[in-house]
Amino acid sequence: MEIIAANLAGLRSRISEMELRYDRIPGTVGLLAVTKTRTANEILAAIECGQREFGESYLQEAMEKINLIRDPGITWHFIGPVQSNKTRAIAENFSWVHSVDRIKIARRLNEMRPAGQPPLNICIQLNISGEATKTGIHPSGLREFAAAVREMEHLRLRGLMTMPELFDNFERQRRPFQELHDYFLMLNDDDCQLDTLSMGTTYDMEAAIAEGSTIVRIGTAIFGPRS
Ligand SMILES: *Cc1c(COP(=O)(O)O)cnc(C)c1O
Repeated sequence: MEIIAANLAGLRSRISEMELRYDRIPGTVGLLAVTKTRTANEILAAIECGQREFGESYLQEAMEKINLIRDPGITWHFIGPVQSNKTRAIAENFSWVHSVDRIKIARRLNEMRPAGQPPLNICIQLNISGEATKTGIHPSGLREFAAAVREMEHLRLRGLMTMPELFDNFERQRRPFQELHDYFLMLNDDDCQLDTLSMGTTYDMEAAIAEGSTIVRIGTAIFGPRS
């Protein structure tokens, strides 16, 4: 568990260095600790180091840990594929969903979000050219998709997310992130008032920060390789 503390401290200082290197305002790159496949104890170790934002990809696995940890100071982000029959539990137990890529799913999250809770924070997941997975909407449908989400009373559209293919080449890594940033600016020209670019993982966080990421989603660099 000491390794988690050391990794987190190292990661935070690397993020600060990158903010400086790429002319980012200090403190504007948020760190989401991605804890799919990790135990509740590993999460607790990160909480002890002051980490408050956690990302999970699979609902059932996430619920076990959320119910064990039961800490109102923790913010849970859902970052995995959203199945229709899981929307109620996601809307009830998470504060953010980064992986919205179907309007039907957005509608269900909106219907299921409990009235007493603040709006559910939403990122639209985009499939930028060369995406490894098939998830994410095609950019041609983005404007319409964003406008529809903005009409939903219990959702708050915060930004965009992407999960590009992994490239070794730094300049090649930057391209999809630059593209996502361009779409972000386009929507803000439409007065969407987005403040979130959810992009960058362990292997491409520097490229993402260079291109304006406001949330990097990091698992491996904190908790080690997943088995
Ligand atoms: C697993 C995962 C991450 C974290 O990846 P690492 O390489 O472990 O940093 C980030 N985003 C999503 C959507 C993931 O599923």
